[in-house]
Amino acid sequence: MLDQARNILKNYYGFDTFRPGQESIISHVLQQENTLGIMPTGGGKSICYQIPGLLLEGTAIIVSPLISLMKDQVDSLETLGIHATYINSSLSTQEQQERLALLRAEKYQFVYVAPERFEHHTFLSTIKQINISFLAFDEAHCISQWGHDFRPSYRSIVSTIANVTTIPFVMGLTATATSEVIQDIQTLLGVSDEAVVNTGFARENLAFHVVKGQDKQTFITNYLTEHKNESGIIYAQTRKQVDAISSKLKQKGYSVASYHAGLSEQQRQLEQNRFIQEEATVMVATNAFGMGIDKSNVRYVLHYALPMNIESYYQEAGRAGRDGEPSNCILLFSGQDIQLQKFLIEQSLMNETKKTNEYKKLQSMINYCHTDTCLQQYMLHYFHDYSLQEGCGKCSNCQRQGERIDRTREAQMVLSCVKRMGERFGAGLTAKVLKGSKDKKIKQFQFEELSTYGLFSNATEKAITNFIHYLVAEGYLATGDQRYPTLQLTKEAEAVLKGQKQIWMQQTTVQQQDTSNYDT
Ligand code: ADP
Repeated sequence: MLDQARNILKNYYGFDTFRPGQESIISHVLQQENTLGIMPTGGGKSICYQIPGLLLEGTAIIVSPLISLMKDQVDSLETLGIHATYINSSLSTQEQQERLALLRAEKYQFVYVAPERFEHHTFLSTIKQINISFLAFDEAHCISQWGHDFRPSYRSIVSTIANVTTIPFVMGLTATATSEVIQDIQTLLGVSDEAVVNTGFARENLAFHVVKGQDKQTFITNYLTEHKNESGIIYAQTRKQVDAISSKLKQKGYSVASYHAGLSEQQRQLEQNRFIQEEATVMVATNAFGMGIDKSNVRYVLHYALPMNIESYYQEAGRAGRDGEPSNCILLFSGQDIQLQKFLIEQSLMNETKKTNEYKKLQSMINYCHTDTCLQQYMLHYFHDYSLQEGCGKCSNCQRQGERIDRTREAQMVLSCVKRMGERFGAGLTAKVLKGSKDKKIKQFQFEELSTYGLFSNATEKAITNFIHYLVAEGYLATGDQRYPTLQLTKEAEAVLKGQKQIWMQQTTVQQQDTSNYDT
């Protein structure tokens, strides 16, 4: 059957070879095993269910969280001469009934539905009557409550369907999954370890950059001047930011599209099309934009503010360079952005365990902005992908010029200060003690009597805080939890204090930092 799969790849899609992971996923699926495929964005997940859908008897049901996407998928299948449809709330009742009738008559090889469709009695009674080849969950991480985009309606599908009919097997596909999410999907879909195909997440054509301490609007203006005719996405945190950035860019004569949840469905569709059809070169949007958008020539993805976790960041940034050409992913970092993310977690309806987990994820995102190891490697390690042996050579950390210098002594000073303060305070107050500040709190806790008080009197508090963040990012200090980010020493820190471990850093010393380009 794999030969037939290769023929379809060539004859229907016009591709000579499978991409990494595709063949393996398809072969598990053709053996009717429950299968989970994890591939980076642009890796070619659609083919993994479409080819088996063409080879196996019956109708394949594809569950997708995005209604806006279904029409595109169906249109592209129809162009290939494949019978497919979608049934969702964008259709009139009459259209829905017509499609259900054709589904009952087994006229489709593929039917795309949103998870909520499984709550409709008519849909369930229809699928009860037909031969189903398999059920595929696109964006399968939505199934897991540990995923960053949990949809409760996704989770109940398997049990709902089991009450109605028998499905030969199921498959899940996703571009983002931490090990706990993978485990969760496996349990829910009954996927054995052998049937998890994970191609790794590395995206060799992407160059990641963190930009700190610069005026963001000026950075954007300068960047766009240098990349005038390139297609790119700017992600902002709020609708207000989206409006402000897009109006500035429009004033400067750029053709801009914008997208956020405050616009009507029709307006959003219009803006999206303007971007996809190249009428607009820049898309300014909140994270409401982009899931499943297949625009291959996006040359940069610029984040105006800190995303809430690495999963979201990697997914959003990964919309750059789907065609494999070199592209940039730039994150503009400022410490203030952390507050908004904390606020969003705090006022959300999540339970305490989930909130704590979100704070932990936020901390990893913050660490990304302070680490000096390869940025791509940092994110891959986060996903437990250790395939990239050396630095990517392209990211802002790999590219930073300058020798590595021994900062062990400075680190020892910070670490012993944290220890003497009882490991009960955050980076701000620790920096004040090291600076020798006369802050009220310092008096209150009598920290001016510590031997570490004023050790960095020549440096600014900001430079000291930056260095502390670096020590957190590299795992010498733990921050408890972002809600009350108190600094604590890790095992690694003990080794540094005992002189058993040295810290080499690509950056300048705390004293030199203020005049250096550390922040750029
Ligand atoms: P994903 O869903 O993983 O983000 P898609 O399924 O949308 O990715 O595929 C991304 C692009 O790669 C599409 O334009 C698709 O036609 C192309 N593609 C998929 N498989 C192959 C292949 N084996 N050879 C060449 N191009 C492919």
